[in-house]
Amino acid sequence: MENATPMFRQYLEIKKRHPGTLLFFRLGDFYELFSEDAVTGARELEITLTARQKDSPNPIPMCGVPHHAAASYISKLVRKGYRVAICEQSEPAAKGVKLVKRDVVRIITPGTAVDPQLSDAKEPVYLAAVSMVGDHVGAAFLEVSTGEFSATEFSTPDAWAKVRETIDSFSPLEILVSDSVKPLVSETFGVPVQQTLLNKDEAPTRVTLGVTLTSASGVIESYADAEQLLKRHFGLGDLAIFGLTGRNAAVSAAAACLRYAQETQRENAAHVSEINFFETNDFMVLDPITLRNLEIVESKGESGKKVLFSVIDETITGMGARLLRSWLMRPSVKRSEIQTRLAAVGELTDSILRDKLRFLLKDVTDLERLIGRLNLGTATPRDLSALGRSLERSPQMMASLADVSSLLLQVLAENIFELPEVRSLIDRAIAHEAPPTWSAGGVIRGGFDGELDELRELSLSGKQTIAKFEENEKQRTGIGNLKVRFNNVFGYYIEVSKGNVGRVPGDYERRQTLTNAERYTTPELKEWESKVLGADQRIIEIESRLFLEVREAVRAETPKLQSTARAVATLDVLASLAETAVKRNYVCPVLHDGDAIEIRNGRHPIVEAFIDEAFIPNDLFMNNSTDRILIITGANMGGKSTILRQAALIQILGQIGSFVPATSARLPIIDRIWTRVGASDDLASGRSTFMVEMTETATILHNATSRSLVLLDEIGRGTSTFDGLSIAWAVAEYLHDSPEHSCKTLFATHYHELTELAESLPGARNYQITAAEKDGEIVFLHKLKEGKAEKSYGIAVARLAGLPRTVIERASDVLRKLERYELAIFSDPKKSGLAKAASRSAASQMTLFGRSDEESSGTVSSTDGKEVVT
Ligand code: ATP
Repeated sequence: MENATPMFRQYLEIKKRHPGTLLFFRLGDFYELFSEDAVTGARELEITLTARQKDSPNPIPMCGVPHHAAASYISKLVRKGYRVAICEQSEPAAKGVKLVKRDVVRIITPGTAVDPQLSDAKEPVYLAAVSMVGDHVGAAFLEVSTGEFSATEFSTPDAWAKVRETIDSFSPLEILVSDSVKPLVSETFGVPVQQTLLNKDEAPTRVTLGVTLTSASGVIESYADAEQLLKRHFGLGDLAIFGLTGRNAAVSAAAACLRYAQETQRENAAHVSEINFFETNDFMVLDPITLRNLEIVESKGESGKKVLFSVIDETITGMGARLLRSWLMRPSVKRSEIQTRLAAVGELTDSILRDKLRFLLKDVTDLERLIGRLNLGTATPRDLSALGRSLERSPQMMASLADVSSLLLQVLAENIFELPEVRSLIDRAIAHEAPPTWSAGGVIRGGFDGELDELRELSLSGKQTIAKFEENEKQRTGIGNLKVRFNNVFGYYIEVSKGNVGRVPGDYERRQTLTNAERYTTPELKEWESKVLGADQRIIEIESRLFLEVREAVRAETPKLQSTARAVATLDVLASLAETAVKRNYVCPVLHDGDAIEIRNGRHPIVEAFIDEAFIPNDLFMNNSTDRILIITGANMGGKSTILRQAALIQILGQIGSFVPATSARLPIIDRIWTRVGASDDLASGRSTFMVEMTETATILHNATSRSLVLLDEIGRGTSTFDGLSIAWAVAEYLHDSPEHSCKTLFATHYHELTELAESLPGARNYQITAAEKDGEIVFLHKLKEGKAEKSYGIAVARLAGLPRTVIERASDVLRKLERYELAIFSDPKKSGLAKAASRSAASQMTLFGRSDEESSGTVSSTDGKEVVT
């Protein structure tokens, strides 16, 4: 430290105040990283590691990124879970100033990365916090870029499972956790504490769920502090207005989020203007497994995937896209809310109204995030211009909505503000071709401020005079390459190359000697310099002041701007749903308070959008009594999974207020969709395929309610036939009979034995997806019909998939043999379905590997030599 240069001493002081971050230290056109930060930065960014004071005994590791390209480097680091502190010059470099002041202007962390270059316009970036007060667990979610802020809390014995579910449904990128909850969070997420949770000073680590866990110890010291912080921020005497009375855990979590956002943004974040307290039964719950199985939205890093969101997203603005995504991830369970949305979508299917609104929306910028930038002090001149242009559309939107009849559209129209003063201020003040930043001038329009106009005149004429001066000096001295130049240290100077120094007149004063040139000044140049520099500096000062004043005047309208932004985003989503309905031929569903799902000619929205052939529509009827469990059998590739998912997707679309792919649909309100689909293992947490399958099944059986919809796409496939069938059988019976957990269940299976359940359970019914065989080839009809399928056509499908011919032939041999046993067993009228299955399984397991030479004798022997079948 003693030997450090003044600049490096400044660096060390700033670094000391920002532990746990990578410090991006602005030097000229670069951000430099030093010491440990440089080693980490160079490794993570794959850039060259150099050193300062290379030849000294203690060279300092160093690496740097150009200022103009910093966003992509920062985004790479933040995505890996690092916190980046941005240190800028806090005063302009001026003549004679050796060490400019510098300070950290912002800390960018995974959950607070709000700059447009760092985030996807269509995806929210949530910061979450979890806290525990007594036996209550609270969770809060803050979208810093827009100010959207929600909190919840749980106290039931399964509070942690619910917290996990809620966190999953928001998919935050960073979670703040206090010391007291570290072990519990660790247990809930199945990650060891040491590996993931940190002291405040340490850099956060990315954990397996793709979330950064950051220690919030010290962010909020006590519940009283937390409550105080929120009251002060919202200017309220108590928090009852947000429904937070007595919700101490939610209050603590919310305060932690807000405080962290303020600390990292170095701003008050006044656009965070309310907290929405919610409970999980306010939404239809779609856990991450279900979201993935049903392909609702892309998971992180999966852009371009065929998912429901990409099929129905016709939104025009980023804020509309984010709102649609949040509707899809948390569909409504309130019939009145769904119906008002459906009525609005219905009205917007009128193409004249819809086209007009969508045309206007094209000129509307992402107001939500722009308001965030206004309140975080990062809005640029271009942002203000974009805001002005957006607001110009307000009166036209209101006019288009003047005669609408649906209640929701009327309410939205009332919530859009014109803000003519704001529009006119921006129009008068901000240059129409506004620059991307405000610090270099050129922001304020001519005519807005008299003093600024005068100074601009002066600066212009001064520059012309200096140009003329250069010309005169060239002529006077006869030095053709004489130049008048400017830099921050010396101001204006005359530069003469070494070869011409002999021709320099006596009134030139030497200022600096370079290798190839000498620099001079003259009394006349000094005089002009003071005028021009004075004017230029004043211009920047005045422009900055005016810009900040205009920005503040616009920011003061945050409540009306936020209301407008929300209304326009909702309008965008409703118009998008209407556009999809028309384009894809969807119909308005009828939501009812009963329990029946009644779909006519339903289609799978994603499959339909991506297959070349025509999609075969299917009817579906279910209720909680006579048609509670539908057991669906049929050929491999027949369309069993498709019909299961299609039912769930139609239900979800209905509950977000969208039209649905069918010719008609009557839908109940479903509280939750559960899915158990396919095979996947989770080796990282030590769970095999079968264990994952059983864990998911257990969760469903413990939690499904009479208002749930359960999709079971194969159960028990991960173990022996006998074990699997028994489990599948018992699961189906349980979902049919359980007083608390019986619910509508769609059960796709290749265990044909299960079809016998329909005979014993009054609420179970058999359905089959039809397929036919033509000239030895399988023909998929994809039609759902009552009754059970006789075959799975597995070998035919295996042939289609290209299995070697010898394998197919051998498989056909084995199948024929098994079918012979089956015939023998099934011809025994005394045996029940399960008993037949048991006999068949035992027999087939004993003889499956028999070779044709043994078969030719007509007798197959079991391993103990006993004759089984002849
Ligand atoms: P498996 O038993 O092998 O898992 P499955 O019966 O579940 O098969 P799906 O995966 O639902 O079959 O469907 C296979 C493919 O058939 C789909 O990807 C789709 O391309 C097509 N398909 C399914 N249903 C239909 C339909 N109703 N109309 C047109 N094509 C369909």
